[in-house]
Amino acid sequence: MAHGQPLDLSIVIPVFNEEESLELLHTRVAAALDALPLNSEIILVDDGSKDNSFAIMSALVEKDARVRVVRLRRNFGQTAAFAAGFDLARGDVVITLDADLQNDPDDIPLLLAKLDEGYDVVSGWRVDRQDKLITRRIPSQAANRLISSLTDVQLHDYGCSLKAYRSEVVKSINLYGELHRFIPALASWMGVRVAEVPVRHSARQYGKSKYGISRTIRVFLDLLTVKFLLDYATRPIHVFGLMGLISLFTGTAIGLYLTIAKLFFGEQLADRPLLLLAILLIVMGVQLITMGLLAELVIRTYHESQGKPIYVIRDIVQAGGDVAEPAVSPTPDLVPV
Ligand code: UDP
Ligand code: MG
Repeated sequence: MAHGQPLDLSIVIPVFNEEESLELLHTRVAAALDALPLNSEIILVDDGSKDNSFAIMSALVEKDARVRVVRLRRNFGQTAAFAAGFDLARGDVVITLDADLQNDPDDIPLLLAKLDEGYDVVSGWRVDRQDKLITRRIPSQAANRLISSLTDVQLHDYGCSLKAYRSEVVKSINLYGELHRFIPALASWMGVRVAEVPVRHSARQYGKSKYGISRTIRVFLDLLTVKFLLDYATRPIHVFGLMGLISLFTGTAIGLYLTIAKLFFGEQLADRPLLLLAILLIVMGVQLITMGLLAELVIRTYHESQGKPIYVIRDIVQAGGDVAEPAVSPTPDLVPV
């Protein structure tokens, strides 16, 4: 929930054990914001840091009234930290970046300028990325290609934390797992316009990266979720049902063939693997269809219990001269992620 006066811009920065870079980070971000004619806030989300990060951030609040520090009770992960920042953000525009200064705060105006061209999401593209080649850049390139081809949003660099969003975009997305990188793809559901701008990237100066190669697998699994939700969240029976029908039909056909062989040609069925296959396919088919129907019930419960529509309105034009901004109640919601 947002509190207080709306602002123009909220910067959201997740922080997990980044004590060495916080002072410099603040100086750099503050300088970038000072150069802009905007009311802004800097939301630092302490994601359960075990080092001195929280004390340093609290001291920053004294120095700069724009800074707000949110401390999570434990380490919930970067996605959760972003989500906390989004919930608290009061700005019309929300910009995210990393706390380790790998992203350059001086790129903030670039993102804002692009947003002003009429986009809803602007994603940074680390053209000259300064991370390890084998464990980070190559898997990331493969992931970006795959995500781009499976979703409607073509980006070179989904993983870049430096991104700008109109606040209604981030406020209407429920994030789980490690889905923050998929926000542009998830938001495509609500018909957002997404752009990409090249941004600078530096190697980590202080501290250690919190991730390694193991993230790749999780990204692929998350992609599976995202793909399914984007395509089938409001009609799960179409995917489960189709697979179920194919399985059921094939199983029945094999079963019929075996029945005829037995009844009319006196063949023995007891030692035929084909019989097992027929049974397996029929059982699977019934289960898949049932699962699809259950998923249909679940999706109805999700939308109807919370009054979440399955659409998002951009404008309403009607007689009386109003070009109404649609009331944001009930909250337009994305796919149930
Ligand atoms: N981070 C976080 N919680 C975590 C892991 C990371 O808030 O559990 C923050 C971290 O402090 C940094 C950002 O997320 O600001 C990106 O993390 P990191 O730099 O380790 O990732 P990389 O740049 O190596 O992908
Ligand atoms: Mg980093």
